[in-house]
Amino acid sequence: MEGARYNLIKEKWDIENGEFFTQELPTIIMSSAIFVGIQKLAETMVGADGAAVIFYEAGKKVGVLRTKSWKDEWGLDGQEFIKKMEEFLTELGWGKLSIDTENLIIKVKNSFAAKNYGNSDVPVCHFLRGYYAGMGEVLTNRAMDAEEIKCAACGDDFCEFVLKQIE
Ligand SMILES: [Zn+2]
Repeated sequence: MEGARYNLIKEKWDIENGEFFTQELPTIIMSSAIFVGIQKLAETMVGADGAAVIFYEAGKKVGVLRTKSWKDEWGLDGQEFIKKMEEFLTELGWGKLSIDTENLIIKVKNSFAAKNYGNSDVPVCHFLRGYYAGMGEVLTNRAMDAEEIKCAACGDDFCEFVLKQIE
């Protein structure tokens, strides 16, 4: 594996108390299969549309919070900030991310959600979609929604998210 990592994730363990941290935040390591398993269970219990809303809103909350705190922590702006965020999220294992701030389009190759989901007729990366909407809100200072217009689970080469300002 060339260029194994960006070294942006700062990890720490407290073995005595059974805690693991990334960027000082209590964190658990969860396989992407478990995450997608929870999503699929939610789909069977509340329906695909209901589950999509839950995962989208959960992702959006995290996207807003994390993007704000990285902005403060890293002290970066503009393309420098975007580049570091692309590298950070890629290093987290969420897929290979590229952000087009001019057109408000985010492409993800190898989305962890799509990869573990299996084939689907509709896009399935609801948590990521919400996360990027939240990130877009912080970057633009406007209320944003996101739509996934391509998804690897539907047979596309990558997942593509379009951010739209909420009127
Ligand atoms: Zn997808």
